[in-house]
Amino acid sequence: MNEILRPLAPRPRLDQPSRPSLRLVDSRPAERRVNAFDLAAARPRIESLTSRREPVNRIIFVAVLLGVGIAQAFPPSEGKHPLFPSPRSVVDRESTHHYDVRHYRIDLTTSLASGAFAARCRIELTPRRDNFDTFSLHFVNLVCDSIRREGNTCTFTTPSGRLLVTLDQPHANGESLAVDVYYHRNAGTANRGYYWYARGNQGIPHAVAYSVTQPDDSRYWFPCFDQPWDKAERGCLVNITVPDSFSACANGVLDSTRVSGGWRTDYWRHSRPISTYLMCFAASRFTDWQIWWHHGADSMPVRYYVWPTDSVSAVSSFGRMTDMLDFFSAPDRYGLYPFFDEKYGMVAVYPYPWGGMEHQTMTTIHRYWVIYGSDNGIAHELAHQWWGDMVTCLDWRNIWLNEGFATYSDQLYYYHRNGRSGFLSLIRRRADDYFNEEASDPHPIYDPPPGHEFDWGHTYCKAAWVQHMLRYVAGDTSWPNHGIFFEALREYGDSFRYANANTEDYRRILERRLGLDLGWFFDEWVYSLGYPNYTVGWQSRETTDGWEVVVDLAQNNMSGAPAVFHMPVEIRIRWSGGDTIIRYPVETSPQRNVFPVPAQPTALEFDPNEWLLDQHSVQVGLTSEFDPGFGISRPRLSIGPNPCRRLARLEFELPGTRDVRLEVFGLDGRLVRSFDCGLLSGGRHSLAWNYAEDGSDLAPGIYIVRLTAGADVTTGRLAKVD
Ligand SMILES: [Zn+2]
Repeated sequence: MNEILRPLAPRPRLDQPSRPSLRLVDSRPAERRVNAFDLAAARPRIESLTSRREPVNRIIFVAVLLGVGIAQAFPPSEGKHPLFPSPRSVVDRESTHHYDVRHYRIDLTTSLASGAFAARCRIELTPRRDNFDTFSLHFVNLVCDSIRREGNTCTFTTPSGRLLVTLDQPHANGESLAVDVYYHRNAGTANRGYYWYARGNQGIPHAVAYSVTQPDDSRYWFPCFDQPWDKAERGCLVNITVPDSFSACANGVLDSTRVSGGWRTDYWRHSRPISTYLMCFAASRFTDWQIWWHHGADSMPVRYYVWPTDSVSAVSSFGRMTDMLDFFSAPDRYGLYPFFDEKYGMVAVYPYPWGGMEHQTMTTIHRYWVIYGSDNGIAHELAHQWWGDMVTCLDWRNIWLNEGFATYSDQLYYYHRNGRSGFLSLIRRRADDYFNEEASDPHPIYDPPPGHEFDWGHTYCKAAWVQHMLRYVAGDTSWPNHGIFFEALREYGDSFRYANANTEDYRRILERRLGLDLGWFFDEWVYSLGYPNYTVGWQSRETTDGWEVVVDLAQNNMSGAPAVFHMPVEIRIRWSGGDTIIRYPVETSPQRNVFPVPAQPTALEFDPNEWLLDQHSVQVGLTSEFDPGFGISRPRLSIGPNPCRRLARLEFELPGTRDVRLEVFGLDGRLVRSFDCGLLSGGRHSLAWNYAEDGSDLAPGIYIVRLTAGADVTTGRLAKVD
C-alpha cells in the first residue's frame, strides 16, 4: 500500500493544473476490530534498555590503524526472542480455524448502477481435524442466501461479522471440500472493502466498482478466512459480470471473455498462493492495452486499465515500467519477477482511498498517478510483488516487513534514476517524516498500536531505514553494486516464496547468511521505539609519531527508546591532503575512542555516508561527562611539540591512580633525565620540561621517553632540533 491522498475540501477538479499535495491522513477506525480470529498477541520479550548503564570496565579502547581497514566488530546480542509459531501451527492452535483454505472462486455480477451485486464464492478447503462439520468465515455487510456443498444444502447463521456454516455431513482431517456460498450486497451499503461510485460522482466520467481491502476488509466483498497467513495455495478465480459496455480486471491472467445478452464476463485466473487482502477486481468503462516485457528469451505481458480520457497520460506515466521490472528482476537484486508466468498489471480508479495497493499481479492505483505520474509509487507497488505478495507478512504486527521493503525499493529505484544526491535527499526527507511522527506518536515499527499499522513515518519511512541500516551492518555499502545483503534478501525470498514470514524469520535468514548476531539490532530498531540522538565531541593531539583524534560519543535518546543504540558508527577524519573513514563499534554511552592519524586533523564528520537514522551534533572539544581516565585501559603518553627546540611537553593519561616515573634516554641508553612524579590520580597530566633551564642542555637528536605507571610501561620518541 502506498501513501494515502488527503481528501481535499472542496475536492479538486481533475483538470486543475497544479499537483495536489500528498499528505497522510489516518482513515483507519480508531479501534481495530478484535475477534476470535485474531492471533494471540505473543509479543517477544524485550529487555529493558532504558535503565542500563554499562560498567566502566566494559569500555574498550579501540584504535583503528590506518591502512589496516575498517574495524567491523559488533556488540553481543542483548536478548533472544522466542520464535513465533509457524503459520501452520497457528492454524492448528486456532480454535475457530480448523481448516486450511486452498482456493477461492468468486463469480460476481453487478450492473454498476448501484453498489449492489450478487455473487457466489466457492471455497475449497482442507479440514485440519476429524469430524469437521462446522466452520466459520469472515463476512460483513453482506447477505447470505444459501450454502451448498456438492449440491447439498448446508445451514448457516450470521453472528456479527461472521458466517457460521454447518455442513451437510462431517469430513475427515485432510479431505478436500468445496463449499459454495451464494450471497449478495444491497444497494446503499456503505463503501468499505467494496467501493462503488456512480458516473458524475466527484466528476468521474464512468461508474466504477472495485475492491481494496488491506488489512482485513476482504470480508466486505466475499466470505473468506480474512487473515494474511492462510494463503489459498492454489490461487483464485475472479469472474466479474458487468453490462457489456464495461469490463473488469483482476488477479492473474484473463482466461476468456464472454459477451451475451448485454452482459460481459471476464474470467480471471491466478494460480499462485494468495492472501485474501491481495485479491482484487475493478470494473468500469476502461480502455485496456498490454505491452511486453522482455526478459532473456522470454516475455511477459503488462496490462493496463484506465479510463479512455487518461490513456495518453498513462503512456507517459507508465513509461518506466519495463525499466522497473528490469531493475528489480536483476539477478543481483531481487531476482525474476515472481509472477512471470502470468502478468503484471495496473488499474487506475478514482475516488480511491490510497495512492496504490499492491494486489497480486494487478496493482490498483489512484487516478492521480496516471495524470500526474508517480515513479516512486509505481516502483513501490511493483516491488511489493516480491515483498508483500510473494513473501507476505504473517500478520499485521509484521506489516513493516511489507512496507519497509517496498519503500526501500522505491528509494533504490530513485537512486537508479536520480543518482546518489537525489537518493540521499529523498531518504533525508523521509527520516524527517519519521522524526516528526515519532515525536507525537512514539511506538515501535513492530506491532504498531491499533489504527497505526499504516503510519507513514513508522511503517514506511523508518522501516525502509531499517533495511538501509541492515545493509550497512552487513557491510554491503558499495553503490551501486549489490552484495551480501541482497544475497540474504534473495535467500529470504526463496525460503518463504509464496508463503508468509515474520520478523524473526527475516532475522534468522539474515543472521545465517551474514554470519552476524542481529538480536541487538532487532531489539533496538524493530522491537523498540526511537532512534539515537548523538552528541559528538572531538579533539586532536600530537603523539610521538603522529597525531591522534579523541572522539566522545554520547547518546541522549528520547523517552522510551533504548538508552544505547549499539549501531557501529562511522566518522570521517580529514587532514591537509587526506582523509579516512573509520567504522567502530558502540558499546555504551558516553563512550570515548582514540584513533591515530598520520597528520594534524582539520575536521571530523559523523556518519559521512548517511547510513544511520539518527540525529547528531558535532562539536570540537571533548564532552565533560567523562570521568578522568574513563575510556582507557592502559596509560597513554604523548609528547609535543615534536620536534621541539627549548621545551617539551610530556602529556600522559592514566586509567586510574598510579605511581608514575618519567625517564628520558639517549639512543645509546644513557639516562638523560628522570622525573619521579609520585602517586597520581587517573586522568590527564602534563609535564612541561624546559631542558635549557634545568641544565640538561639537550643536544640535537632523538631521545626515548619512558613512562612507568605502576606495572605499565609506555615509551615515546622525542626529536630535539636546534
Ligand atoms: Zn506499500
